[in-house]
Amino acid sequence: MARAAMGTWMDPMRAVYQRLLEAYGPQAWWPAETPFEVIVGALLMQQTAWRNVEAAIRNLKAAGLFDPATIAAAHIPILRKHVRVAGLFRTKPARLKAFCRHLLERAGGDLATYFDRPVDEIRADLLAQDGVGPETADSILLYAGGHPVFVVDAYTVRIGRRIGWFHTDAYETVQRRFEAHVPRDLAVYREYHALLVVHAKTVCRPTPRCDECPVRTRCAFGRRRRRGRARTIK
Ligand code: SF4
Repeated sequence: MARAAMGTWMDPMRAVYQRLLEAYGPQAWWPAETPFEVIVGALLMQQTAWRNVEAAIRNLKAAGLFDPATIAAAHIPILRKHVRVAGLFRTKPARLKAFCRHLLERAGGDLATYFDRPVDEIRADLLAQDGVGPETADSILLYAGGHPVFVVDAYTVRIGRRIGWFHTDAYETVQRRFEAHVPRDLAVYREYHALLVVHAKTVCRPTPRCDECPVRTRCAFGRRRRRGRARTIK
């Protein structure tokens, strides 16, 4: 699906997408069973490892605390007990509860209703919630809401700057660049973000392993490095 949707589009960002897909295979992101689980994961993900987020989600499920209405009504100390493993225990439980209240107020807790609105309106709502920045908002839109918006994170910026696609880390600028070049297809946007993450974690690391890189021939940094003239872009 993600591959077919690229059609005949010829663009360096397409070529890199296809090489990454061939190299790493489909990533099947986001690792969640429901859109609500995507949201909870996105809210808890800040400054912690994913395994801790998974543990917090397991705790909430085991305690019967895994729907918007129940979390919105739960006392903070109870929530804290279950999500503590995900860190920031003073802020994350309160943010989670406030976000669920927002879902109830806006759409009665029904996510299909919540996401069945213009993207700009939903994004503004998301960004107005405590602890939700552009990356979290767009992750929720893309993976929970089914809206094709390109998610930008530090990995996207690192890889894109090294390849030479842009020379900035400004969120909207990087996002616009991808959205101008990559066809707006939900499966492709989901897959592309996941592939950039896996590439950044395994090969295009802070100290990149360019010799092992599937997109080296398309990367300005990789080519400079081969000629011994590269300065590492973190
Ligand atoms: S060639 Fe090196 S810097 Fe460029 S994308 Fe590959 S690992 Fe990253």
